Parts: sequence; structure tokens; C-alpha cells
Amino acid sequence: MSKMALSAAVPINTDVPLFIGGRFEQSSSDRRGEVFNPSTGRVLTRVPLCTASEIDRAVQAAYDALSSWSETPAVERARVMFRFREKLNSRFDELAALVTREHGKTAAEARAEMQRGIEMVEFACGIPNLLMGQALENLATSVDCETSRHPVGVCVGITPFNFPSMVPLWMFPVAITCGNTFILKPSEKVPLSAMKLGELLNESGLPAGVFNIVHGDKEAVDALLVHPKVRAISFVGSTNVARHVYTTGTANGKRVQAAGGAKNHLIIMPDADLDQTVKALQASAFGCAGERCMAGSVAVPVGRIADDLVEGLCNIGRSMKVGPTDNGDEVDMGPLISKAHRDRVASYLDVAKEEGADVALDGRSFDLPGNGFLLGPSVVDRVHPAMRLAKEEVFGPVLSVIRTDDLDEALALGRECEFGNGACIFTNSGWAARQFKRHFNAGMIGVNVGVPAPMAWFPFTGWNKSFFGDLHIQGVEGVQFYTQQKMTLTRWFKSSTESHADPIWKTKKGGG
Ligand code: NAD
Repeated sequence: MSKMALSAAVPINTDVPLFIGGRFEQSSSDRRGEVFNPSTGRVLTRVPLCTASEIDRAVQAAYDALSSWSETPAVERARVMFRFREKLNSRFDELAALVTREHGKTAAEARAEMQRGIEMVEFACGIPNLLMGQALENLATSVDCETSRHPVGVCVGITPFNFPSMVPLWMFPVAITCGNTFILKPSEKVPLSAMKLGELLNESGLPAGVFNIVHGDKEAVDALLVHPKVRAISFVGSTNVARHVYTTGTANGKRVQAAGGAKNHLIIMPDADLDQTVKALQASAFGCAGERCMAGSVAVPVGRIADDLVEGLCNIGRSMKVGPTDNGDEVDMGPLISKAHRDRVASYLDVAKEEGADVALDGRSFDLPGNGFLLGPSVVDRVHPAMRLAKEEVFGPVLSVIRTDDLDEALALGRECEFGNGACIFTNSGWAARQFKRHFNAGMIGVNVGVPAPMAWFPFTGWNKSFFGDLHIQGVEGVQFYTQQKMTLTRWFKSSTESHADPIWKTKKGGG
């Protein structure tokens, strides 16, 4: 990637605006957050932390736009998404560069994020097909029955820092094409990509008020959770906040889907292809600096493969180039999102030592250039299931290793885990793969795949404390979440030939 290709129109020295009712405007809030460039440690811009009254205005704008937008034919709504897709593709490099700048992931990772996000828009282009209902004629004598899908109303999306573009794109293209209006509250750590998406959507011909963006922290989120005009809330973030969003939102009568944190296991059977597996584990655990809800965070070698696996992981980790990502240099891993988060992740290495694990590769020992929030990859061997590193979400480039004797012991780790997002097995045994697929306690399974994240057409099926709600994000479940069904029963009485010729209203009018 050349240095030129990384230029993005970042509004330096200007506070990030809100987008309400089709207009960009400055917030009147006196609270502000700082948006950093994690590669340099410098502040890029400031983001307003909205007040409840600004949230109310955004909801009102979405509410006012609802009746007209929900009456707009579904194919016309989808055409906005076709135009949006073209704009995303034509600005692809700029959008990816913006993700890199405010998040810190590498150019290749940012491009992959944009690609996954655009696939959600492509999915939304086909939504009219999924809005069709069902019908059965003559369900009973002379009675027909049909179902139809209707928008739920004003919807809200609250998103995390780790996918500044993709996670918002999981939500609003689907919600809007289903006929709803939408308010996005992106992570206050990475609001710039969301603003660019809003700008391009606006240019795609979306009527004012259908899509709105507000910024903020708990105060803004809580105002959305209790607002009487909000009907549905999509949330992605950490488990404690996901639980809060789910309980508060549902207690206030809203439909909620809330995806939370994760602790993903990677099981390595003795017959696995070692080289391929080590590469897959490297990408899973250290890709996006480990800041992925689908990142592998616990390697579970079964039997004799453990020593070779740990040696291979340390060697490949040691060979990684870690550095800033926004200066055009090729690196394997970029910075973490903030200094506080980097320090928190690094502190787990001390915790691991205190608890008796073996830090086989220490990410703090790398040559880390500049003032960015960098940390090298770490491998912590001989972690015990009772240790904090085995139980808590680290959300950074730290791979724990729990050695096991057999597959049953590995399956038990899943049963004891409070999360349940993803889990993978590496093996050449069909039997082991089948046992794992059927019995591991997680919602997304990989077989010889390190990051089993589904593409747009399939649901993101987290289990346990990785998801609160009934209908998951993405795929057909996403469409079901953003629509409500109506059932209509119809019966017509057969008229006599005479009344057909002389309709009843005519007879009555004539006084006969
Ligand atoms: P976070 O929970 O701190 O923030 C997520 C959103 O919630 C942000 O918009 C934030 O402003 C808001 N928020 C934060 N604290 C809040 C509070 N107390 N009350 C109300 N709202 C609050 O998450 P993060 O650090 O931005 O993102 C990382 C987390 O997201 C990780 O736990 C990761 O596993 C998870 N994640 C999950 C998925 C998934 O699909 N399961 C996908 C991506 C990220």
C-alpha cells in the first residue's frame, strides 16, 4: 500500500458533527471525548457526548420520517442500497484508510473490514425477496390466510470500537431497507468512519431523517434505551454493557439484540497439520491486534502436539513486525485502540506470571517504534482453566495455551466457559471434527478455520453471555428482527346470482 493511498479526509481540529434530519450539525453538549490516532498516540479530533435532549431530537427526526419511508416501495428502498454500494466501492481506499487511522488496524485488515461491510449492503439490496409473506388458500372452507412483513419503527444501533465500519453496516442497511428509520450511536472512540458512511448514504438519495447519527457514552445510550418512540435496539459491545442494554431495553418494551464479549477456544488435535495450524492460529489470535470478538484467545492442544505447537506459535509470533499502520509501512500488527487498553492487556501478562503460567513469548519485549499504543504478540503456556487468563476476555494479542489430554477434556472447557461466540478445531479426523461440531458449547464453529465469522447471508450466532436476545444480527434473522409479521384471515360470502346483478347497496338505496 502506497502512502498516497492512505490519505483520508479526516476533520482535524473540528469537532465531529451530529447527523440529524438530513443535516450535519455541531452538538451543543459541553462534554467532549477525544478521538486518537492509535498509531501515533496523538489526538485526531474531538467527539461530542450528546445530551438527552439531542438524543430526543434525533429520535423525533427518525419518527417524523417513518411513515413516508415505510410506505416507500421495498424495491425503491433497495435501490438506495444499490447506489450506496456503488459509492462505497468507489471510495473503498479512502474508507479503509479512515478505519486504519482511527482504529489502528493494518491496511489489509481495514480493507477486509470494508469488504465484509459492503457485503451487508449487497445483502440488503436483495431484501425485497425476504420481505415476502406466505399464503395458504382455503385454510378452512372459503377462508384464506396470509402473512406479511412490516417495519417495526424507529430502530437504534449502538456499536463498538473494533469494527468502525463493518458493525454499523451489520445494522442500518438491513433496518432501513426493511422500511424502518434508524439512529446510529457509533463508538465514541471511532466515530469518523460512521460519519463517512452517513455522508455517502445521504448522497445515495435517502430521504432526510431516515438515517441519523448521534455520539456519546452511557448518557446517550441510556437516553436511547428508555425513549418511548424507539422500537428496536441492536447492540454490539462488551458483555456487561450488552446485558445492561438488553435488560433496560426490554424492560422498556423494546425488541433488543445485544452481542457481547467472547473467549474463543482453538482445539488442536494431535493429527492436525502443524504448519497450517500455526499460521491459522497466528491470524486468529494476533489479527487486528486481537481486538476481535472472534479472535482465538485460548489454544487447546490435545496430547503430544503441545510442545511443537507452542514452539511454532512463539517462533511465528516473534517474527511479526509490529508498528504504526498509518504511515504506509507494511506491518503485521498495528496498535491497540488506546493507551489504557494497551496497558490493561499487558497487565494480564503479570497476572499470568503471578498465577503460575509460563509467559513463553512476552509482547512487551518487542522493539515497538514511536508513541502509538503498541504491544507485541504474547503466548502464555500452561494456563490452568481456573486462572483469570482462561476466563476473562483480554481483547488483545495474548494467546493462552491450555494443554489437555483428550477431546473430552477440551469439550469440557467449552461447557465451563461463560461466553460462547466461536470455537475451532484443527484436525484431519472427521470423527473428532464431528464430535466437536456437535458438542462444543459455542454458537459459531470452525473446522480447520481460525476465525469462523459468517458472511452477511448467515446469522452471527453467538451463545451464552456472548449474545442476549432471540434474533441474531445478519442473514434472515436480521430481517426478522427488523420486521414484524401480520397475519390476515379472509372470508368472502358467496352471493346469489340475483344479488350479483342487483347489489345490495343499490337495492337499499332504491328503498326496495
Ligand atoms: P463497549 O461495551 O465498551 O462499548 C460498546 C458501545 O456501548 C459503545 O458505543 C459505547 O459508547 C457504549 N457503552 C460503553 N459503556 C456503556 C455503558 N456503561 N452504558 C451504556 N453504553 C455504554 O465495547 P468496546 O470496548 O467498544 O468493544 C469491544 C467489545 O465488543 C468486546 O467485548 C468485544 O468482544 C465486543 N464485540 C462483540 C461482537 C459480537 O458480535 N459478539 C463484535 C464486536 C465486538
